[in-house]
Amino acid sequence: MGVSLPRKEMFEIPEGVIYLDGNSLGVMPKGAAARATTVIEQEWGDQLIRAWNSAGWMDLPRVVGDRIAALLGAPAGSVATGDTLSIKVYQALAAALKMRPNRRVILSDNGNFPSDLYMAQGLIDTIDKGYELRTPAPEDVADAITDEMAVVMLTQVDYRSGRMHDMKAITEKAHAVGAVMIWDLAHSAGAVPVDLTACNAEFAVGCSYKYLNGGPGAPAFIYARPDIIDDVQPALSGWLGHDAPFAMELGYRPAMATERLRVGTPPILQLAVLQEALKVWDGVEMADLRAASLALSERFIKEVSARCPELTLASPADPALRGSQVSFAFEQGYAAMQALIARGVIGDFRAPDIMRFGFTPLYLDEADVIRAAEIIETVIKDRVYEHPDYQTRSRVT
Ligand SMILES: *Cc1c(COP(=O)(O)O)cnc(C)c1O
Repeated sequence: MGVSLPRKEMFEIPEGVIYLDGNSLGVMPKGAAARATTVIEQEWGDQLIRAWNSAGWMDLPRVVGDRIAALLGAPAGSVATGDTLSIKVYQALAAALKMRPNRRVILSDNGNFPSDLYMAQGLIDTIDKGYELRTPAPEDVADAITDEMAVVMLTQVDYRSGRMHDMKAITEKAHAVGAVMIWDLAHSAGAVPVDLTACNAEFAVGCSYKYLNGGPGAPAFIYARPDIIDDVQPALSGWLGHDAPFAMELGYRPAMATERLRVGTPPILQLAVLQEALKVWDGVEMADLRAASLALSERFIKEVSARCPELTLASPADPALRGSQVSFAFEQGYAAMQALIARGVIGDFRAPDIMRFGFTPLYLDEADVIRAAEIIETVIKDRVYEHPDYQTRSRVT
């Protein structure tokens, strides 16, 4: 039996805030600040460079990777951590292209997060060998898979709408034509049950500051299927992915297994905070989390739709096709979101008109959802969003 949800007592939730943005930056788990202080004062402060050994800093990327692997149905040793998700996308894609040297097409979709597409285009331009990036609409992507594809690279849960791809079915299709499959799990890890072993994709990547609550700038992760990793040629061949970093050899020899997907010095402070943050998952069954997530999001859709006919559901109505977020389209969405935030209901906005709300059952309950719907109703019905205070855009939306 898993623990019961939510586990609000494990998080620092500011007074008066209903946080529906854990899909963008998760709430701070209670142990995070104390852990950061320990690392700074006792490890860095007292142990200095000795801490790489004495405080286990060198092993931290792997230890944290193993904890994330367990949440994703992946074996220990198959997940490396570090860098940012954009860099991990580049790493996975570069390695995948090397595995299919005679093919020139990368297939993604036009719902993918722009950074994934930018990284692909940047890599294509750097290699300069006539590679092509194709981006059909998400609903057409499965049919667009042909034997021209070197790689199919998709994000499982759409950052705007929450629409979910069928990982297993698409991976099977990609493999049937001989393509390598890469999944971006940015909005999946800690949000929906994922079984990387059953899915059988070669690579998966994701970040840890969204549903995994690792904090701003927390390290990304990359998974490589254990049976292929020893043939993976790292494009970002940094010294900490070398078989013997401290031998200081002039030539690069990749480390064993997933260690070769490390690049440079790991972000110890962030990794330590992430390790602490991952403790909130102890005892949580992903099936229970999914059930709670769907109960919250279904209730939210029902309440908001009934109270605010001005808003149009921009997520799949079928819960089975949705991740752990709900989006509504509204022409004045940016200003309406600012008005909501001013009233303690924190979601976010994605251009052109999407109001986005994330559901994180570890620290949200039904009362939060109903209260949020009431506040949304006030903002929309009373046209609070028309106030000039809410019309100016900040850099981060
Ligand atoms: C959040 C997100 C990113 C962000 O990448 P960073 O390098 O961590 O800034 C990239 N891709 C997807 C699909 C995302 O959801």
